[in-house]
This record gives sequence, structure tokens and C-alpha cells, in this order.
Amino acid sequence: MSLANGREYLAIPGPSVVPDRVLRAMHRAAPNIYEGDLVGEVAGIVRDLKALARTAHDAAIYIANGHGGWEAAIANTHSPGDTCLVLATGRFALGWSEHAAGLGVTLDILDFGRAGDVDLDRLAAHLAADTAHRIKSVLVVQVDTATSVKNDIPGIRRALDEAGHPALLMVDCIASLACEEYDMDGWGVDLTLAASQKGLMTPPGLAFVFFGPRAAEARETAGCVTTYWDWRPRADPARFYEYFGGTAPTHHLFALRAALDMIAEEGLEAVQARHAQLARAIWAACDAWGAGGPLRLNIADPAKRSHAVTALGLGGAHGAALRRWTEENAGVTLGLGIGMAPPGDPAADGYFRIAHMGHVNAHMVLGALGAIGAGLSALGVPHGPGALDAAAAICAEPFASSG
Ligand SMILES: *Cc1c(COP(=O)(O)O)cnc(C)c1O
Repeated sequence: MSLANGREYLAIPGPSVVPDRVLRAMHRAAPNIYEGDLVGEVAGIVRDLKALARTAHDAAIYIANGHGGWEAAIANTHSPGDTCLVLATGRFALGWSEHAAGLGVTLDILDFGRAGDVDLDRLAAHLAADTAHRIKSVLVVQVDTATSVKNDIPGIRRALDEAGHPALLMVDCIASLACEEYDMDGWGVDLTLAASQKGLMTPPGLAFVFFGPRAAEARETAGCVTTYWDWRPRADPARFYEYFGGTAPTHHLFALRAALDMIAEEGLEAVQARHAQLARAIWAACDAWGAGGPLRLNIADPAKRSHAVTALGLGGAHGAALRRWTEENAGVTLGLGIGMAPPGDPAADGYFRIAHMGHVNAHMVLGALGAIGAGLSALGVPHGPGALDAAAAICAEPFASSG
């Protein structure tokens, strides 16, 4: 028995909280997959997904988690022996690169550590040195979910343009699509990757690959691709059965339709502004706690922090102890630190993450912060005062959406 009984908040960075409306949309009988309503729905789903990524180009849907999307993105654009430049800012870009290596692609890794974003000067120097244009593609995550850093995608495009480098720009937006500002076509991104279970509030199991004309051209000579991962039959929703490479993910599509409707009703700019303001509330609380104890935001510069997930260091084994405390005593499940220390190193227990992506509002964030504060007290971890007041003051600011 504890104070945890009641509705829980799963504050891990994927899967995110699934809204009741999305859950209800799935609670229905299996539909015909050869004709009928669902067949007609897919064109609208694809249109609305492309609006989130801000692209007029193609979108393929895979029945896969994000890892499947990683594989699809590489397979359709590369041949064994090609070189990928990996801009590593935490565990997730490295994870993507492991899939590229598994397909026979050669990796060229620029590692920017675990507490910062891509250094554009270092990138520019690296691109300038590649006079033979050996680098076929640049892999980067918009938000690295492990470190909670946000990379400057337009800045990376600029570095490629200024170097006159033809590499494809491929961006993983799995943690950030719908949560952060993003403009695939406006920013000159060739390929964008997303998945259903984070900002899109749908259960895990759908991966989305958006590809522009330069990526489509790379597909024509890609030697890594196999029949299942080929995106060409998946580019035309009217060919419903081929579009999914077999049976459609029926109930995921009902769920996704409901989630896309919720985003459209709120307005994408308002969704993004909600994420931005709630993120600032979390940072304000963490700054207050940190002024009197060991708690540290992993990314020091607020301009480089994700609005969807916050990685924190607490030292010792306090991160793991806090997660256990809030789950067992307050009904809040926090994310564990990943990739912050070498495998097996007990220092990993010093980290934790708060996910604030998707179906999250002020009372959930204030409640999670209250639970964290209670946990710090219960565990005897020193912390400064005023954290909840600081977060509430941010929530009290007028809501400012550009939409
Ligand atoms: C969650 C995540 C992934 C992996 O997604 P899975 O569905 O777990 O395979 C990849 N990249 C980023 C940035 C993520 O946040």
C-alpha cells in the first residue's frame, strides 16, 4: 500500500502516454483490409503525417519500431561499402549507425560527447577534408533521447552547402516529431525518420520514413535494399496491400488517425508551444533543486535542450533510487539514464530522465515534479528550495503560441 494507487504517469521517453481517445479508437472489430473504410483512410493519414514533417515528398509506413525505420532508411539509400558520416550526440545516433554497419556500410563517426550538440565548426572542417566526396550520407538525430540534446538541423544543412558537399542529410526525429519545430523541405533535409510511440501518442509499432527526391534517386542504385524494406511500393497509399508489404497494421491506423486528429484540433504550433512551456517549467524546478544539491541538467544551454525529454544527473546511485521511489510511492515512472556511462559502470545509476512528450499537460508535469521533490526529501538527497513555485510560475505565464 502506498500513495501510488490512482492513475499513473508513465514519464519514460517512449512509449509515451496514450490518450483515452486513441485507446478507444482501437477498441473495435478487425476490419476488411481489401476494401472499405480503412483503405480510404490511409491517404489522409499519410497527408497529415507529411504535414507534421513539413514535406511535400513521399512517406513510407513500416510495421516496425524506430529500429526498423533506421534499417529502412539506410537500406533504401546505400550500398555495402558506402560511407556514412555519423554525428554522435548520445546513444541514439550511435544506435542508428550500428544498423548501417550491419548492412555493410562503412562508418565515419564524429563524436560530440554526451553533454552537447553537433559542433558545426568541427563538422565544416571534416566535410572540407572530404574532397573526394567519399561521404554518402550524414546521419544525425534532431533530439538525442539519451542526452536530451537538440541538434541544429538548419546549421548542419548550411555546413553541407558551404562545403559544397553532396551527402544526403538524414535526420532521426523519432523523439521530436510534433514536439519540436521541424521543416523537412524548408531545411533541405533529404530523409526524415519518425515513429508512432512518442510525440504521436500511439502505441509502438509504426515507423515512418519521409524521403525527398535526392533520397529517392539514391534508392535507384541502393544495393542494401531487400524486398520487404523497399520503399517504392510503399509510396502510393492507393496500392493499399503493397503499401504495407502485406497485412495493414489495422488498429494502429485507427489509433494514429485519432492521434493526428487531436494534433490537428489543438494545432501543431500550439502543441509545440505547450511542449516548450512545460519544458521550461521542468528546467526551472531542476535549477532550483540544483542550487542546493547535486541535481544537474545534462544539457547546460537551454537553447540546446529538447522540449520532449530532459536528462538529469544526480550522482552516486541516486538516479536509480529516485526512479524506484517515485514509481513505488507516487505513481510516476521516470526514465532511466541510457548511454551516460559505459556498460556495467555503476555511474549509470546516477542518471534519470523525465519524458514530457505527447499527451502531457501542466498538472501532469507539476505532479511529476512534486513527486520528484518528495522523492529527493524521502531519500535524503540535498536539494535547493522553491522548485515547485518556480515551475508553477512558468505555467502561470500567458500561453504563447505562434499559431
Ligand atoms: C526511441 C528512439 C529510437 C528508437 O525507437 P524504437 O521504437 O525503440 O526502436 C530511435 N531514435 C530516437 C531519437 C528515439 O527517441
